[in-house]
Amino acid sequence: MIILLLGSGGREHALAWKMLQSDKCSQLFVAPGNAGTSQIATNVALNPVDFESVRNFVLENRVDIVVVGPEDPLVHGIYDFFKNDSQLHNIPVIGPSKVGAQLEGSKEFAKQFLVKNNIPTARYESFTKDTVEQGCEFLKTLEAPYVLKADGLAAGKGVLILNDLAEAQQELRNMLVDAKFGEASSKVVIEEFLDGIELSCFVLTDGKSYKILPTAKDYKRIGEGDTGLNTGGMGAVSPVPFADATFMEKVETRIVKPTIEGLQKDNIEYKGFVFIGLINVKGEPMVIEYNVRMGDPETEVVMLRIKSDLVELFEAVGNQELDKAFLEIDERAATTVIVASGGYPEEYEKGKVISGLSLATDSIVFHAGTKKNEANNVVTSGGRVLAVSSYGNTFPEALQKSYDSISKITFDKMYFRKDIGNDLI
Ligand code: ATP
Repeated sequence: MIILLLGSGGREHALAWKMLQSDKCSQLFVAPGNAGTSQIATNVALNPVDFESVRNFVLENRVDIVVVGPEDPLVHGIYDFFKNDSQLHNIPVIGPSKVGAQLEGSKEFAKQFLVKNNIPTARYESFTKDTVEQGCEFLKTLEAPYVLKADGLAAGKGVLILNDLAEAQQELRNMLVDAKFGEASSKVVIEEFLDGIELSCFVLTDGKSYKILPTAKDYKRIGEGDTGLNTGGMGAVSPVPFADATFMEKVETRIVKPTIEGLQKDNIEYKGFVFIGLINVKGEPMVIEYNVRMGDPETEVVMLRIKSDLVELFEAVGNQELDKAFLEIDERAATTVIVASGGYPEEYEKGKVISGLSLATDSIVFHAGTKKNEANNVVTSGGRVLAVSSYGNTFPEALQKSYDSISKITFDKMYFRKDIGNDLI
């Protein structure tokens, strides 16, 4: 099969690495990809949201299946674009329809879906510019901390958690009246604060049946001890020790099943990954958010733990025969530690030459923000640069390998957290 993978991060390098293990994959294109994907597949200079260019490429290169890494093309409707095109409609796109992608694209849509399907989640109400004063009143009925969420996509910055009522009311006005997050905050969801430990549950669905993939926990903040600014994620581990069989049984019956059934009831086409952001509140799983694609850096550990042929699974998703497919999981632990550019998530420099990559032989080094310069050196080109991923019979063993590998890699001003997974050991 000829496969086109859209995206350019560590997630896409990990998906590419896994798909290339399949005998079914005869050629893999990655658009636009990074220096890591260029070493194992063919990078293509395509913008994933420029659907006309994607269309031309797919037809010219006889692509059999399109796998979508990031949310943007999905929220913009790439699934429907293919479905409605007479020449493309037989080519499966791994992802949800545009309506399905609203589970990530609109927090209000996601909350309505959760409530309608009796899936445990925080109590909420949503407000617009016209109802801002009701919003301020609603805040008074809640206890601190107050959770305010811009309805639309805001690059992971649209959620505010505030301890002071007056400040929360002011921020609500900033979001609704002064468009703090632009169009994304023309509607705001206010919800009850849930106290617990977060984890991510990943599901692959063909819209009829589903497979639950390994769980993972990511580390969002830039600083050790989960302090400082939020990032795209500084590391991840899988499996999550507290997500034991009893907990996962609750996740499946109370959350995964009703999610897939809810999509069916509403005739929402969905052939892709569902990423369920969960919080463990005293042993009870509750949903914080849906994403409609894999997480990054969680993909860099989840892919390590899938033993089955991923291309076969995608094919089964495309044919809606996932119920007949078999998912085999690797029992070993997997960890990834992100190596970032100093200064990230704020200002940072690019173009730093990365050395030592070939010495990190005990880990799988996925590239995130990298490219090749004119001299054919791998250089930094983003905030998150590498995802150094390892297997181990235990967590500490896998973590040790990731950190040993990082000690062999250097570039000017490199930064990484030294405490990934420590809270779980
Ligand atoms: P991401 O950047 O992970 O995609 P997002 O911007 O889509 O996030 P959410 O995941 O809904 O928004 O919220 C961001 C973070 O805020 C969560 O990971 C969680 O830590 C915290 N959070 C959100 N809702 C709640 C809640 N009801 N109670 C406690 N914490 C919450």
